[in-house]
This record gives sequence, C-alpha cells and structure tokens, in this order.
Amino acid sequence: MDLEDTLLMMPGPVPVAPRVLRAMSRPMINHRGKEFSAMFDDCTTMLKEIFQTENDLFTISGSGTASMEAALGCTIDKDDKVVTIENGKFGERFKDIAARYGQVVPVECEWGTSVDLDVVEEKLAEGAKAVTMVHNETSAGIRNPALEVGMLAKKYGALFIMDGVTSIGGDDVKVDEWGVDIAVVGSQKCIAAPPGLSMLSVSERAFEAMNKENLPYYLDLKAYQKSAAKSQTPYTPAVPLFFGLQEALKIVMEEGMDARIKRQATGAAAVRAAMDAIGIEMFPQLNATSAYSSTVSAMKSPEGVDSNDIKNGMMDKGIIIAGGQNRLSGKIFRIGSMGNVAPKDLMMTIQHLELVFR
Ligand code: PLP
Repeated sequence: MDLEDTLLMMPGPVPVAPRVLRAMSRPMINHRGKEFSAMFDDCTTMLKEIFQTENDLFTISGSGTASMEAALGCTIDKDDKVVTIENGKFGERFKDIAARYGQVVPVECEWGTSVDLDVVEEKLAEGAKAVTMVHNETSAGIRNPALEVGMLAKKYGALFIMDGVTSIGGDDVKVDEWGVDIAVVGSQKCIAAPPGLSMLSVSERAFEAMNKENLPYYLDLKAYQKSAAKSQTPYTPAVPLFFGLQEALKIVMEEGMDARIKRQATGAAAVRAAMDAIGIEMFPQLNATSAYSSTVSAMKSPEGVDSNDIKNGMMDKGIIIAGGQNRLSGKIFRIGSMGNVAPKDLMMTIQHLELVFR
C-alpha cells in the first residue's frame, strides 16, 4: 500500500498536516528548559480556548485512555459509586475503568441508542461520587447530551467526568458552562495531531475530590498540577509529540474554532445526505436530547452485507474507513469528518463508496 496515496477517513488517527510532521523532526530539546516551558504554556493556552475552560489543563504522554484512567483513578476510591453511562464501546470502557477503582452503577443503553436521562437521574438520586459519559460516542456515531448530564451531576452533587475524545476540537464543547469537572481529549482526533498525547481539564471540585490514600503514580493529577505551575510535566514528556501538538493547535487557531466546527459538521451532513441518496440507513437512534455526531458518521450495513467487505472495498481504492467495533463488527461502517479533512476528501470518499456499492 502506498501510504502517501492513502486517505485516512476513519475516526482517528486522522491525516496530519505536513507542517506538523516537519515540526516533529526538530532537534531534541531539554524538557526542563525554557524552550519546552514556552511550548508547554503555548499549548495550554490554546487548549483552554478549545475546551472553553478556565480549569487547570494538563497534557499526558499517553493516549486518550490514559487520561480517562487518570480521571477515575485519582477521584474514585473503592467504596465510591460511579454512574457510568454507556451507549457504545467507549462508554463501556469508562465503565470498565471505573470498575477497577470503585463501585459501578451502570446505565446501559443499547449501543447506538440515545441515553435515557430519566434512568441517569434515578441512579444519581441514589447518591454517587461521579458520573461518566462519552460526549461523542465514536463507536456509534452519536452525540450524547452533555449539558443535560452536567445539570444532573450538579443537582445531585456528583462529579461530571466526560470523554470528549472525539468532540473537543471539532464540536462546540463548553466545559465550564456545562459543569464538566474532568474533560478528556486525544491528540489524534479533531485536533489533528499525531497519536500519543491526551489532554484533560480538571476543576477545583475534582481536585478536592482527590482525597483517597493512594493516587495512581504516573497518572497522579496532583503531580501534574504541581509541575504545571513550573510549566513542566512531572515526568519526561513525549517531546516530539509536543512539537507536533503545538503546530496542530496553531492550525486550529488559524482556522478558528467556529469555522472548524462548521466545516466538520458540514462534512458529516454531506455524508448523511449521500447515504440517504444511496439508500443507506444511519445507525444511531436519536431522541430529543441526542444528535448525529458531527465528527464521525456511523451507517448500517445493507441487509446481507458484511461491513468489513465495504471497508476492504474502500481500502482497495486507497481510502481507509472504519468498520464496527466489538459487537458492531460486520454490522456498521464509519466515516470520519474530523480533523483537517477537506471537502474534496469527503467527496472522493462518497464517490468511491457509491462505486463499492454498485
Ligand atoms: N474515547 C473515545 C470516544 C474514542 O473515540 C477513543 C478512541 O477512538 C478513546 C476514548 C480511546 O482513545 P485512545 O485510543 O487514544 O486511548
């Protein structure tokens, strides 16, 4: 496969701009020196704007799951209850992580269906230290109700821990307005940096809740907070990835978040319109509080067709789309519109997809 000629249209990792790749080939610097600290501060400032938050913000050398684990590992002790909302694979992952640290109170919705907020409220009313939800459930192409869950968390005094791995940087995510205590993003998704870093915002309330005896070591967010005061990370960061992140964030700023959100949403809308024209059904089952994801579209495979065949057919044409994960394997296929994906990339993908179906 000619990688230069391959188009990544999956929900991350996404194509990385040549200037980001060039930034990563710079000579190494001292991670305890002034140059690194300036880059650290620059990234943090840009990220806070993207997260729409005044909360502390940290960058961890580890993928999105590392930050999901940091969030729960630091706040949840063995007797603490965590309401875990699940309507896809990543909601399930939050549940699995929560089970390692505390007592899970699951709210399990069929993957791809909308979250039942009445059940969430019922569980929160019984008392819980935290509630977890994936804002943009990548595995199902559905956007979950963050504002509403934030309000419920506030009403019942629970921390709101939100996975924004495939929404932050691509969708309008209002961390402070929604009352998100910990919000997590991955570098390789909407921000369009290489994989390997994850960033998370942490509220004061979340820090106050870190009162357990044994915090994780590498993922100790209090250690990140202490080091951030010196514009550093507690341990040696993945410096080349920081170079790439800084450049990718500059691209986000140059485009502007409003334009970026609009472009990605328009891309997803174009995919949906094309699917409608071809006669392919969308996978998510929406209600009044959910929406189709504007960064990844998930479609049902037509009757009798294994979605892996669709994926492989596209791969033969040099376009990488995603199939279904776990229990959805073979049943759905997904197209990313996140990152710096251009209209021409989407047009080419749609056209080739039509050819695969003929
Ligand atoms: N959460 C969501 C919504 C995701 O889409 C992903 C990855 O696709 C993750 C979490 C896990 O992130 P990572 O693979 O970077 O650990």
